[in-house]
Amino acid sequence: MSSGAVDPLSDIAAICRRHDLWFHVDGAYGAFAATVANAPVDLLALSEADSVTVDPHKWLYTPLEAGCVLVRDPRHLRDAFAYHPPYYRFSDEVINYFDSGLQNSRGFRALKVWLALKHVGRQGCVQMISDDIRLAEAFFTLVEARPELDALSHGLSIVCFRYVPPDLRSQLGEPEVESYLNRLNEDLLARVERSGKAFFSNAVLGGVYALRLCIVNFRTSLEDIEMLPALVARLGASADAELRPEVTATQDAARPTLRTSR
Ligand SMILES: *Cc1c(COP(=O)(O)O)cnc(C)c1O
Repeated sequence: MSSGAVDPLSDIAAICRRHDLWFHVDGAYGAFAATVANAPVDLLALSEADSVTVDPHKWLYTPLEAGCVLVRDPRHLRDAFAYHPPYYRFSDEVINYFDSGLQNSRGFRALKVWLALKHVGRQGCVQMISDDIRLAEAFFTLVEARPELDALSHGLSIVCFRYVPPDLRSQLGEPEVESYLNRLNEDLLARVERSGKAFFSNAVLGGVYALRLCIVNFRTSLEDIEMLPALVARLGASADAELRPEVTATQDAARPTLRTSR
């Protein structure tokens, strides 16, 4: 999920067992976080999965791309994919990866994953993932403390939040105000990117457009995080100063919802 939320995997596993269904977990981003201390209990239940997607190019920090699916029983892969036409007869004594997937000729993507693991070790990965999660926690706290920012969600190393002009805070929930805030934050996202100081992606949470901080870089530091709230508040204020007059000019004069109180 784009907020870093983890599905109730244990409950889903139980349903799959009861109905004899394949239990696949999309852990592309989150699965590696199961290794850290205090990992979400729901996440630990991925150990019950029949198959798990993991992206080493996310939280194993390997260069793009190294997508991967782990299957509990490799026979399922061979049953689905193996074929042996006359020109494809190799020894059964070695692992022939073309028997386990769609690709025949294939690059050695596993090398960079193996090298990264050799370099930092399991403990190094756990440390870096834990650091990323701690930084996201720190960021969430900073956002909560900042009156112009709304902390919306925090899961693993992802924080969703938005900018709310102080004079609109009392009108949160009003449809025109919410739709303006969505537009404002979308504009703000582009401004942050153009500033060259930070890059957020976005999420839409229950109709609310959110800026989305996702830390999967071992070089991100606390100083990087600490400068963000002020940056977003400043760029948010200038986006609002430009956008609000445009929007109020087109709104129903008899029912102005978006007052300009500046
Ligand atoms: C990143 C991500 C994907 C897409 O995976 P890529 O291999 O990067 O294309 C799918 N699902 C989840 C949950 C993800 O985080």
